[in-house]
Amino acid sequence: MTHPAQHSPVLAIHGGCGAIPRDELTPEQNGAAREALRRALEAGFKMLTAGGPAYDAVTEAVAVMEDDPVFNAGYGAALNRAGIHELDASVMEGTAGRAGAVAGARRIRHPVRAARALLETSDPLLLIAAAADEWAQQAGLEMVDNRFFSTPSRREALERMLEREREGTLGAAPERDKHGTVGAAALDVRGHLAAATSTGGYTAKPAGRVGDSPIIGAGTWADDRTCALSGTGKGELFIRRALGHEVHARMLYQGASLAEATDAMIHVEMVALGKSGSGGGAGLCAVDKNGNVALPYNTEGMYRGWINAGGLYVAIHED
Ligand code: ASP
Repeated sequence: MTHPAQHSPVLAIHGGCGAIPRDELTPEQNGAAREALRRALEAGFKMLTAGGPAYDAVTEAVAVMEDDPVFNAGYGAALNRAGIHELDASVMEGTAGRAGAVAGARRIRHPVRAARALLETSDPLLLIAAAADEWAQQAGLEMVDNRFFSTPSRREALERMLEREREGTLGAAPERDKHGTVGAAALDVRGHLAAATSTGGYTAKPAGRVGDSPIIGAGTWADDRTCALSGTGKGELFIRRALGHEVHARMLYQGASLAEATDAMIHVEMVALGKSGSGGGAGLCAVDKNGNVALPYNTEGMYRGWINAGGLYVAIHED
């Protein structure tokens, strides 16, 4: 009898590249963020060590972060300029290339679970707004009122952003008011890869604006031949560079390593593109087919971590 090749599972996550600057982060915030990252890593890794598929592990890790108001996804997500939460999420697996996504969802408690459910058939693959909510409800997922997602700090962040707009100081807004997303990438014991991403977008975004997080090939990508990754940062730039697919293509066609491909995109391409005006703050979490992890970011900090058989690591700023 032959046994499937056993791979040592790995899970990498991010909680957004809009981390609170080191000198403003209170010990309580620091502890809460690290604890939240640890919980997400442990939840996902438990599934991987039990032999579960990478696409379930990344869904679980992201769902744990959607429940945590520290992060801009699910409960505690950013508000759009009309004071409404419009949530985006996606999941992709790297074996058959199946994927699912929702954009502008308003009532799905865990948008990533709707994306995971859509991945089953991948047809439809991406549903938007009320249609996404209705589909999730019919699929039996937990539904909530839009106000469920609000927290006092997100309402204050919206007020600050609208005030900056009136003053004309939007460009000076701190990264933490602009960015936030959660994501995960994993390699399972069968050597399969998957990635998932979920976000509220950015504070005071226009109604109906969709970022990179639900766009396969931009904010989320997985291919067993190369890597799985989830991005965070200005979504428009990720879409314009098809960032997720570009990392994969550099590895597949140019023979770049995971570190080379992701560094080139985050530290060179996004920085250059950001100079044209939109701000190139960006980061990602990625795992390659050999279990290597990359967590590059070009902002002051990114909530991030990884776990494998050797241990667990979490960080916010440069350690
Ligand atoms: N990528 C997200 C978006 O553009 C936001 C972020 O990660 O900062 O919707």
